[in-house]
Amino acid sequence: MNRLTGQVAVVTGGAKGIGAAACERLAREGAKVAVTDVADDAGRQVVDAIEKAGGTAAYWRLDVTDENAVARVLAEVVDTWGRLDTMVNNAGIAGINAEPHEISAEDWNTVINVNVNGVFYCTKHAVGHMRANGGGSIINLSSIYGIIGARDIPPYHASKGAVREMTKTDALFYAKDKIRVNSVHPGFIWTPLVEDLGKNSPQGVEAFRKELDSRHPIGHVGEPEDIAAGIAFLASDDAKFMTGSELVIDGGYTA
Ligand code: NAD
Repeated sequence: MNRLTGQVAVVTGGAKGIGAAACERLAREGAKVAVTDVADDAGRQVVDAIEKAGGTAAYWRLDVTDENAVARVLAEVVDTWGRLDTMVNNAGIAGINAEPHEISAEDWNTVINVNVNGVFYCTKHAVGHMRANGGGSIINLSSIYGIIGARDIPPYHASKGAVREMTKTDALFYAKDKIRVNSVHPGFIWTPLVEDLGKNSPQGVEAFRKELDSRHPIGHVGEPEDIAAGIAFLASDDAKFMTGSELVIDGGYTA
């Protein structure tokens, strides 16, 4: 499919996992893709893979917690390719796993700073560029844990609930500008983030993965490409009547 020909997309946290798959899928659909991350080598590898497949991409180092850097990088992308159509707010960290009363304010704020403030900064600085081309699509990575609760990593779950609500609020503000804002709610997807949770779990990675598989009615965890497909759909005109929506891609986890 070539639904995004002529468009420009920025993906945060685009070097690995869901972000990398999203960069590759958006490029396959015809978009020029700004792969942004703090993992420079991995980010450049994503660009190489896209170029080898005949797509257009470039890497920008971008820590989403740095508002000035967000403003600068988005302006550079627009200087390079002339427009900004899709902003994928994907960068996220799992953070500390402890009971809420055991968590320091510093550990709490570390997660909120990346997962919530990062989305705020990128949205804030993307809107003006999108208005300049008469609209756009902002896609925020929440989680099934932005919808239901869980007894682990409390700041992460709070952050994903915040992203879900920011999405709805921003959708209402920017509908008049033809900027659609939607959230994506993955179940467990096997990425470095989830593998690291497995490595830190008492049962070890393999048993952890099997246990996660069993939690999804469909019988297994998802792949980054499953989420990338949803992101490409939300970026495209196929989703032109969707804003403020929650796209749940979870193998039946929350059914
Ligand atoms: P990942 O850890 O595999 O990749 C995340 C990327 O974000 C990495 O490349 C990392 O370098 C980058 N990153 C981290 N901090 C950053 C910062 N401050 N600035 C810029 N980049 C930064 O994670 P993933 O599993 O691919 O998750 C991607 C998104 O999807 C996250 O928002 C995550 O919360 C969400 N999500 C993931 C799952 C899952 O099961 N994997 C489920 C639900 C939601």
